[in-house]
Amino acid sequence: MKTNVSSELKKKHYGLFGNAGTEVCLWTKKALRNEDVCYKQKFYGIPCHRCMQFSPLIACNQNCLFCWRPTEIMHSGKISGKIEEPEKIIENLIEERRKLLTGFGANKKNRKKWQEALKPCHFAISLIGEPTLYPKLPELMSLLKQRPETKTIFIVSNGQNPEMLLKLKKKNALPTQMYLSMNAPGEKLFREICRPCSDRAWKIYLKSLKILKSLRCRKVIRMTIIKGLNDNYEFLPEYARLIRLAEPDFVEVKAYMRLGYNRQSFLWENMPSLKDIEKFSEKLLKELKNFKKADKNRLSRIVLLKNKKTKFRQKIFD
Ligand code: SF4
Ligand code: SF4
Repeated sequence: MKTNVSSELKKKHYGLFGNAGTEVCLWTKKALRNEDVCYKQKFYGIPCHRCMQFSPLIACNQNCLFCWRPTEIMHSGKISGKIEEPEKIIENLIEERRKLLTGFGANKKNRKKWQEALKPCHFAISLIGEPTLYPKLPELMSLLKQRPETKTIFIVSNGQNPEMLLKLKKKNALPTQMYLSMNAPGEKLFREICRPCSDRAWKIYLKSLKILKSLRCRKVIRMTIIKGLNDNYEFLPEYARLIRLAEPDFVEVKAYMRLGYNRQSFLWENMPSLKDIEKFSEKLLKELKNFKKADKNRLSRIVLLKNKKTKFRQKIFD
């Protein structure tokens, strides 16, 4: 990674190892202070304070308008610099995370949680950039799974690299929960919102949705709803059609949040309220007869829909 890029990320409290990075998210910090937990702990039971969020490669093949990460430093889909080895990434990023967590051990009340936090058991491969661009992702997954502490791994993908989804499947390296983002009902809005690098991006995305259906792990579609842009009720039948292509176990309908770098693209008015999201979800459910409302979270303005036919329980841990 170029020095100016890495110093910018370091200023923002990322722990870096070559082109890979980790960050201690706001919710992990809140959990360590016994203040609150993220919606993924509430929905699925993953322990927020033991979550390690990281990216094996800081690069992306989209430039989404709503991305709150600094997209201009993600190389626009081109991988530059050295690809680090998976074992080195895990070892070094766990160490970087340990350094970022140092201050949290000072308070005696939080000491036990802090000690637990130093041994992450949940890995969220979704920090900055598109994780499927990392060519050694299957090897990295196998190593993470072998760690005695590891309980769960979530990967969030934009669907622009279906070949990697197939590789993960073939090499028995699927995560506990595989996410695909859904931010538009059709190609025109997809181009406008996600600003992909490839001319074939929409076709590629549709391919990923179909592949998702075939994966033998928990599958989630995550929708980011931006008020006044992709929330028109006229789009609902098309959203439902796309969701049916993937047949996910869960759909997360989440409000766009105005923060970080995306403040340049949108106004506060573009952030839907939880009420807006609930209304949108209810209408979506009318198109998706085999789904039902399963949960919601006020602070993250998100509603969880569950496939009535899924074999998975909502909570991985109680
Ligand atoms: S799952 Fe996501 S929001 Fe929750 S602690 Fe991990 S990185 Fe943060
Ligand atoms: S795909 Fe994800 S990381 Fe890439 S620009 Fe979009 S939101 Fe940001």
